[in-house]
Amino acid sequence: MREHPNGFHVAFVGNPNCGKTTLFNAITGARLKVANWPGVTVEKKEGTVEFEDEKLILIDTPGIYSLSTYTIEEKVTRNCILDDDIEVIVNVVDASSLERNLYLTLQLLELGKPIVMALNMMDVVEERGMEIDMHRLPEMLCDIPIVPVSAIKKRGLDILLHAIIHHKEAVTLGEVFSYSDALEDKIKKLEVIMAAKYPNHSSARWHAIKLLEDDEEVSEEHPVDVSRIVDKSYSRQIIQAKYSYIDDIIKECLFNKSAKEAGTDRIDAILTHPVFGVPCFLIIMALVFLLTFTLGDWIKGFLEIFLEWLQQTVSVLFDSAHVAVWLKGLVVDGIIAGVGGILTFLPNIIILFIALAVLEDSGYMARVAYVMDGIMGKLGLSGKAFLPMILGFGCTVPAIMATRALETPKDRRRTMLITPFMSCSARLPIYVLFSGLFFGKWAAVVSFSMYVLGILVALATAFIANLFDKKKNKNNLLIELPEYKRPNLRSIRIYVWNKVKDYLTKAGTTIFIASIIVWFALNIGPRGFVGEPADSFAAIVAKVIAPALKPCGLNMWEVVVALFAGVSAKEVVVTSFTVLFSNAVNGASLYDSIKSVYPTFTAANALALMVFCLLYTPCLATIATIKKESESIKFTLLSMLFQIGVAFAMSTLIFNIARLFVG
Ligand code: GDP
Ligand code: MG
Repeated sequence: MREHPNGFHVAFVGNPNCGKTTLFNAITGARLKVANWPGVTVEKKEGTVEFEDEKLILIDTPGIYSLSTYTIEEKVTRNCILDDDIEVIVNVVDASSLERNLYLTLQLLELGKPIVMALNMMDVVEERGMEIDMHRLPEMLCDIPIVPVSAIKKRGLDILLHAIIHHKEAVTLGEVFSYSDALEDKIKKLEVIMAAKYPNHSSARWHAIKLLEDDEEVSEEHPVDVSRIVDKSYSRQIIQAKYSYIDDIIKECLFNKSAKEAGTDRIDAILTHPVFGVPCFLIIMALVFLLTFTLGDWIKGFLEIFLEWLQQTVSVLFDSAHVAVWLKGLVVDGIIAGVGGILTFLPNIIILFIALAVLEDSGYMARVAYVMDGIMGKLGLSGKAFLPMILGFGCTVPAIMATRALETPKDRRRTMLITPFMSCSARLPIYVLFSGLFFGKWAAVVSFSMYVLGILVALATAFIANLFDKKKNKNNLLIELPEYKRPNLRSIRIYVWNKVKDYLTKAGTTIFIASIIVWFALNIGPRGFVGEPADSFAAIVAKVIAPALKPCGLNMWEVVVALFAGVSAKEVVVTSFTVLFSNAVNGASLYDSIKSVYPTFTAANALALMVFCLLYTPCLATIATIKKESESIKFTLLSMLFQIGVAFAMSTLIFNIARLFVG
């Protein structure tokens, strides 16, 4: 045994929330903050304890799921345990979710350092009536000491300390678990190369495996020429092999899984199935939107009746008070029709957000990233990039911010480029309006197809970006799949209320101001106040641009005005249409007004318009967020240009296809 004048170093390592800090506090008597969410301990903390005449220096590390170096936590912890001063690693494991914790355990075992497992939360395991085979489990994990403890009840702590002090033999995972022959062959060769160049290296096998995973930090720290052996990243195979070994362990060692966990497994057998997972996701989303459109539209009908009544009442009031014609126009056609028109979409939007909140709170959203990981991997993105995309169904601004969870700047930019293609809730009024006007009973299907189209364009963009990418990504998804639970009413209420508040604020500020500006732009011309929007400044400018939109069937100056105005907020496209065409023929429905000005405007044109609105430049708030998060004006401008280009190309394509059917 080595001498430890100052005590010997022991690192507590484990997944977030497995109870490392609680255990650390229980042993050292320290009072570090214990929290029930990941990312609280981002620095390592030290404490000392004396036991059996030995002095131990315990180190609490940030929680991690793996030993890669993607996140700050992973870096801090990995550097800490690769440090040779650490003599024993205590792998703290949440026994109540053994399966999820063992992935890190297998990685730690590959390090070839002395390891003791603290099987924490045994109180939960007992309470749930689960049983763990304490004979077979260590056998399958290189015979490391496994000590059942409960940090919260302070049970098993002395046995754990005893094991830490007396277990200092290095272990080799290779004895109980190996990869495919081809991989093992490569690992052997790499180990030989490593040993020749770095004879004193203590974790040669781990390094060899990391080299096969194409781990940048490892290859920078210990450069060796491995190009003949490592022809590509083998990380997917390596991860899969580990998970299938974990499956074996769970089958042999874990009995009486709790009913809740078993339920989660049963649901996941379908929802995260390799083949059915994606169709399940699409069906769930289709149901969400069906509900949004059918039920939402029904309630919307009542709001529209109220709005019409309000317009008429105010109109009559203004007439009897002899208010100036232009002011009456501004208030009735500009503000009430504009802002009020947007507010009638509130039922649709509330339903959409309730559905999204339920999906998130029940634990399904995390699974979507998991289900999509395979597809995203082929596009050079991690499944994690799909989460910002789904958030994009709500609002693009927080979705862009959520790209912070991605590992590399390149991944982030790529995700920022494609996230605006996801249909945000502001685009929903556009679909509801135009599909309702032109597609009758197919309205819900057409609206839903816009969502699908957005996803497809986003994925296609990522695919093309990946084709041109010389240095391919090697992403590995590791996210925690929480147990399913019944959605909490309170958290859904808070979530939905916040979104509704945002929407109302937007209607009261951006859309309010935009509809006033649009109204003025449409009513002021070279000759001052013009009763006819066609003579206004906006029309004069728009008429110059309009012919450019002929290929996609949108060569109408009104459309150009609406699209420009829509950059302030996408709902303003709808507002502008109401303002534009309410002036054209008073009293007629929007459909009749459009038809009376443009008799050839058919469902094909409406479809092209929806596609254009889906894909073109996102709103100002999003642009500002992209600029802030990417820290690049160039990237921001290029992405805007790109989005306009895609919008033009796709709406042209779809317009011309649709024309074949609509005639
Ligand atoms: P860390 O992220 O690994 O540092 O985990 P924490 O020490 O912050 O603990 C996460 C949560 O698990 C806290 O709510 C703890 O109270 C709880 N916890 C920790 N150990 C135990 C235990 O042995 N039994 C039970 N029931 N809960 C525990
Ligand atoms: Mg902690």
